[in-house]
Amino acid sequence: MSQPKRPGFPAWIASSAAPANSVSRAMARTTGGGNAGVRPAAAPVGIGLDSAAVRTRMVQRLAASGIQSPKVLSAMGSVERHLFVDSALVNQAYEDTSLPIGLQQTISKPSVVSRMIELLEGAECARQSGLARVLEIGTGCGYQAAVLGRVAREVYSIERLRGLHEKARNNLRHLRLTNVHLLFGDGMQGYGQGAPYAGIIAAAGGDAVPHAWLDQLAVGGRLVAPLVKSPGHQVLLVIDKTSHGFTESVLEAVHFVPLKSGIA
Ligand code: SAH
Repeated sequence: MSQPKRPGFPAWIASSAAPANSVSRAMARTTGGGNAGVRPAAAPVGIGLDSAAVRTRMVQRLAASGIQSPKVLSAMGSVERHLFVDSALVNQAYEDTSLPIGLQQTISKPSVVSRMIELLEGAECARQSGLARVLEIGTGCGYQAAVLGRVAREVYSIERLRGLHEKARNNLRHLRLTNVHLLFGDGMQGYGQGAPYAGIIAAAGGDAVPHAWLDQLAVGGRLVAPLVKSPGHQVLLVIDKTSHGFTESVLEAVHFVPLKSGIA
């Protein structure tokens, strides 16, 4: 890739102003850090030159499967998923499958990413003028954060594994999404400094929804997250925060990596 590097990107939230919680401390540790040990974004071997056409076909399949939001479809058509996966997997980048991204984690399926973001767009407070601020738990390689960055006005994305946080930072650098803020920390605490959020989206499934997420949701906001119902069985959960309390809907079965506490 020949794009110039922008050393200041992704944007960091001033750690000096942030209280000394685990997120801000961890952020302070990484701001000056290099990218030692982090693999560069995959070269677009083979698929590179023609990736727009392959993405267009992927978007057509997403639309045929029921995704209707023009913003989501357009974002899915513009973010180059092949740049977020290992070069050995580039040829599968536009198939509707999750793929390994290292450290036993995966990049989510395009159908699941688009489905969850479309659900977020259905938040009461987003229906009139679109999604304002969104918190993503589980940055992974940064793919969904990049898609969100093209749909929402501001995106905060937290990852608990330093290696993946740095990988995402590397992957997103050249995209110049100045509205996407990558954080290293335990997403089970949410990220209070960015709250309240119009949307919270989790890419990892736990057996309960952390209180912090519900607290940090705006009235009129929506949470979309996988929930472990019984061992090996997860469902997609949608929680809306209203002025009278919370309403909850349980949707289809999903399969996400586990939500874990702490950083590593
Ligand atoms: N959003 C990614 C999916 C990454 S997989 C995509 O674009 O495809 C889910 C990620 O959630 C993993 O990287 C995992 O490390 C992370 N995760 C799990 N528990 C977490 C927590 N408590 N806080 C932050 N990240 C967490």
